[in-house]
Amino acid sequence: MIADKRWKGVYSFEDSPFLMEILTELRNKHTGAIEFRKGLVKLGRYMGYELTKTMDFEKVEIETPLEKTEGIIAKDRKNVVIVTVLRAAIPLMEGLIKVFEHARVGIVSASRGKAPKFEIEMNYIKIPEIKPEDTVIIADPMIATGSTLLKVIEEVRKYGTPKRLIVLGVLAAPEGISRIKGAYPEVEVFVTKIDRELNDHGYILPGLGDAGDRAFGAPIKTAKK
Ligand code: URA
Repeated sequence: MIADKRWKGVYSFEDSPFLMEILTELRNKHTGAIEFRKGLVKLGRYMGYELTKTMDFEKVEIETPLEKTEGIIAKDRKNVVIVTVLRAAIPLMEGLIKVFEHARVGIVSASRGKAPKFEIEMNYIKIPEIKPEDTVIIADPMIATGSTLLKVIEEVRKYGTPKRLIVLGVLAAPEGISRIKGAYPEVEVFVTKIDRELNDHGYILPGLGDAGDRAFGAPIKTAKK
């Protein structure tokens, strides 16, 4: 895990050849939906595991069948709320929940409205109560402009003030991270890798394309009633 020098509380996993190998497969345009989803699940699981290293734990005394010994309880692991941003975060959440099996799960939808305002519309919001001892993990694979996440964070904060508020993604553009940290300095960001920049259409470069389309197929437009 590498702490990025540009911001406080922003970490990537560029030091992990295994995570970089999974990312390489996700980036490859020849990787199909099945392997793409599996890759996202793996990243959720392994990044979740890395996240546990940053969590508070307490020492406990237990007895093995042979004698007393000291053990560890990673108590924050049990106080987790995962907020899943539809749709590409679904496989990421599936991986995270393997590590945080006690997690309460919130589901939100966020989509960009029409020009010229491009406002973010959140039509579906189901978030459980957030308690002071909780670590909230907002899972969103692509931190691009940051607009969606700013809206999601604003919404999440209405449900309580957690011990830690974390955004966990696969790729981020520096622009998106700067916007999030500018508005919410206390939010921590964990991503597999921070990429170079955004293109004019808001896609991360070199990126991996549209994560939702690659995981679930591109939606088609039907005539509105
Ligand atoms: N969302 C995506 O799925 N991909 C990007 O590159 C940016 C936003």
